[in-house]
Amino acid sequence: MIERAQALHALSENEFDVVVVGGGITGAGVALDAATRGFSVALLERADFAAGTSSRSSKLVHGGLRYLQNFDLGLVREALLERQLMVALAPHLVHPLPLVVPAFDGARPDRLMGVGLNLYDVMSVDRDRLRAGRSVIGRGKRARASSDRSNDRSNGEEGNRPTQPEEGESWSPERHRVISGEEVIELLPALTAREPTSGYLFYDCQTDDVRLVLTVLGEAERFGTVCANRVDALRLLEHDGRASGVRALDGESGDEFDVHAANVVNATGIWADRLIDASELPRIRPSRGTHIILRHEDLPLLGGAIVPAGDGRTIFALPWLGRTLVGTTDRDYEGELDHVRPSTDDVDYLLAATNAFFGTALATRDLAGAYAGVRPLISSGDPKKSVDISRKAELYEASSGMLTITGGKLTTWRRMAKLTVDRLVERDSRDAPCHTHEIPLGQAIAAEDLPRVEGVPAESYEALAGRYGYAAHDVLALAAERGELAQPIVAGLPDLLAEVALAARREQARSIGDVLLRRTRLGLLAAHELPVERVAGVLARELDWDAGRTAREIERFAAEASAEGIGSE
Ligand SMILES: Cc1cc2nc3c(=O)[nH]c(=O)nc-3n(C[C@H](O)[C@H](O)[C@H](O)COP(=O)(O)OP(=O)(O)OC[C@H]3O[C@@H](n4cnc5c(N)ncnc54)[C@H](O)[C@@H]3O)c2cc1C
Repeated sequence: MIERAQALHALSENEFDVVVVGGGITGAGVALDAATRGFSVALLERADFAAGTSSRSSKLVHGGLRYLQNFDLGLVREALLERQLMVALAPHLVHPLPLVVPAFDGARPDRLMGVGLNLYDVMSVDRDRLRAGRSVIGRGKRARASSDRSNDRSNGEEGNRPTQPEEGESWSPERHRVISGEEVIELLPALTAREPTSGYLFYDCQTDDVRLVLTVLGEAERFGTVCANRVDALRLLEHDGRASGVRALDGESGDEFDVHAANVVNATGIWADRLIDASELPRIRPSRGTHIILRHEDLPLLGGAIVPAGDGRTIFALPWLGRTLVGTTDRDYEGELDHVRPSTDDVDYLLAATNAFFGTALATRDLAGAYAGVRPLISSGDPKKSVDISRKAELYEASSGMLTITGGKLTTWRRMAKLTVDRLVERDSRDAPCHTHEIPLGQAIAAEDLPRVEGVPAESYEALAGRYGYAAHDVLALAAERGELAQPIVAGLPDLLAEVALAARREQARSIGDVLLRRTRLGLLAAHELPVERVAGVLARELDWDAGRTAREIERFAAEASAEGIGSE
C-alpha cells in the first residue's frame, strides 16, 4: 500500500471515476472490481481498514448451514460457490476447516441436520467448474458430483484433515459423512471426557477477516486504486443534483478537502444510512454478535464443533490462530456503533453453552480475549428477530445517483461488488465484464519456501506465509536487517515485532490499535498480555513520534481497548 501522505495528495489532486466510501470487505471488493474494469478509483476509510464489522466476524467463509432453516437457499448456494472460489484465489488465506456435529450415548446424529447437510453438499457442487474439468479434490480425491452415495456411514478409510489442493487444482469439499466417536475425539479433543459415540463431519472454510480485507485492498491498489484510512466522508458533493464526489476530513490533520468523482459508492455497512438522506434507504437494523477466545489448552480443538446453545440455537467452537474461538450471539443492538463491547450477558451465555457441551468449568477469568461486532442487517419493517433476518445484500440507487451496497456477508463480498460495479458499467454504457473471479488475491507461498532468519521462531514461518503469502519475505528481510525485530511480540505466539514496523511502512497502520487489533490479532488472542509500550516503541521509530506523542498514543490505545472491552473481565 502506498504511504498515507502520498494517498492524500493523490485524493485531492485527481478526479476519479469512482469514490468508494468505506474500507471494510464490501468497499475493498467494490474498489477491486471497479479498478479491474478500467475505472479510476479512490477509497476512503474513516477509521482504519476493516475497523468496522469486517474485523469482528466469526472468520468463516461459508454457505451458512443455519440459513437453510430460513429457506434462504439462493444465499446459501451463492455463498458456497464463493467459498470454493476464495480457496482457489487465496489458498494461503482461506482454508478448508473440518466441522463436527457430535452425537452421544449411541444416538444417531440428528436426522434433520443430516437432511440439511445433504442439501449443503448438493448446493456446493459447481457444475460449471466440474464440466470445465477444473474442479478437483477434497483430501486427494476427485470431487464426487453425484449425490447417489449414502453418507450416513463411516468409511473410516481416510483421515479427517483436508489436504490443500495441488498446483492447478481447486478445492472442492468432500460430501459430509458420519464418523466414529474416536474420530470425533481426534478432531475435538476437548470432548474426550464426554465420550462421543459418533458425529457428522462436513467442511467449511476459515480466514482472518482483516487480512482478507487488506489483501483485497492490496490487489485493488495494484490496479491503481488510491486508498487512505483516517479519511471521513462528511457529505456528498452534488452538481446539478447528481453526486459528484464527497467532502472529506483528514482525521489526523483536521483539514477538509474535496474528492471529485463521477460516481459515489456508499459501502459504510452499519453506518450506511448516515451518508444519505435516511428517507432514501431502508433502515439498518443493527444486531450485535459477541465472540470469546479461549486458550487451546483450556478447550483443545483441531476442527470446529457445532454447539447447542438452547432454544434451538447453535454456536460455533472453532480453532483459530492457535486459540479457540466461540460464538456468536445475535441480538438487536441499540448502543454506540464506533466501539462495540461484548456484553456480560453475551459472554455468560457463550460460557454457559461451552461448559454444558464440553463438560468444562470455564469462567470469565479464563478468557484470552473477547470481541463484539454489529451486523448491517436491513430492516424490512417487520418485527422478525435479528437471527431470522436475511443476510442478502441489497443495492440502492439514490436520486443523486449515489449507490449504496449493504447487508450481505464477508463470504459474498465479490458478488456484492459485482452487483454494484455492474450497475456503474450499465450507467456508463461501457463494455466491461467482471474479472474478480479470476484475479488471485495475494501471492500464496509455502512456509518451507521462506528463507530462515536467525532468531525467528520455527512456528512463525507458517503464520507469516498464511498472513502475507509471498510478502512474508519482506517481514523476514526486516527481521534479518534488525535482529531485535525477529522476536515475537507476545512470547509463545508467532507474530513478530518486524510485522509492527512493516504494518506502519506498508499497510498504513497509524496507531497501536491498528497493529494489535487488526494487522495482527493479538488484542483478541492475548488481551491480557499485550506489550503496549514495546509496540509503541517500534511504531514511534517508524512514524517519527517523539516521547510526548508516544505517551499520548499509549493513552489513546488504553481508551480504545477499554471502549472495545479488550482485556477487561
Ligand atoms: C458477529 C458477526 C459474525 C459474523 N460472521 C460472519 C462469518 O463468519 N462469515 C461471513 O461471511 N460473514 C460474517 N459476518 C458478516 C460480515 O462480517 C459483514 O457482512 C461484513 O464484514 C460487512 O462488511 P462491510 O464492508 O459492509 O462493513 P464494515 O466492515 O463495517 O465496513 C464499513 C466501513 O465504513 C467505514 N465508514 C463508515 N462511515 C464512513 C464515512 N463517512 N467515511 C469513510 N468511511 C466510513 C467504517 O469505518 C467501516 O470500516 C458476521 C458479522 C458479525 C457482526
